Amino acid sequence: MDALDLHPDGYTGTYKLVGGRPCLDFVNTISWPETEREHDWLSSPDNVKRWFSAIDLPFARGKPVDLPALHKTRQLLARVLRPLAHGEQAPAPAVGEFSKAVARAYQSRAIDPESLAWQWTAPQSAADALFPILLDAADLITAGNHERLRYCPSCDWLFEDQTRNGQRRWCDMADCGSRDKARRYYQRSKA
Ligand SMILES: [Zn+2]
Repeated sequence: MDALDLHPDGYTGTYKLVGGRPCLDFVNTISWPETEREHDWLSSPDNVKRWFSAIDLPFARGKPVDLPALHKTRQLLARVLRPLAHGEQAPAPAVGEFSKAVARAYQSRAIDPESLAWQWTAPQSAADALFPILLDAADLITAGNHERLRYCPSCDWLFEDQTRNGQRRWCDMADCGSRDKARRYYQRSKA
């Protein structure tokens, strides 16, 4: 899997779209969350724009990027999705807050009379641009298969296991998968 062309800002790792759906890729824009190595890929407006274009979502054009609004929504999604991926209950206050945000997101789309498909109104702000991601998370939470919502045991990135046999273990075989292999090889050779 190819790394996305985001400015690393001194960080040595890479960012990849491994989540299988936009809401998980959004949560994964923090690498190694809550560790010493933690790195935020969406800390610059330029990276935010690149990320939105990589996942094919429109960003509010000609407006300054509201980083705090983005980070707040990402934090909220992480509070709901990370426990679910770990097989735990999502905390009720976070679900309540998430539910309100989703209700606002629903109001910003309408059925197009010609195509009869949902259409989003053009985003006016960073918060608006996140509406499709909120609804993706809502679908995953209310209708998705939680068994298939997983976390990488190495780096804690989240992903939806879309493999036929449901045996996907790592965010990316080339990164965490091979890191684990090397670690086990080292332990064996030490023994
Ligand atoms: Zn990983």
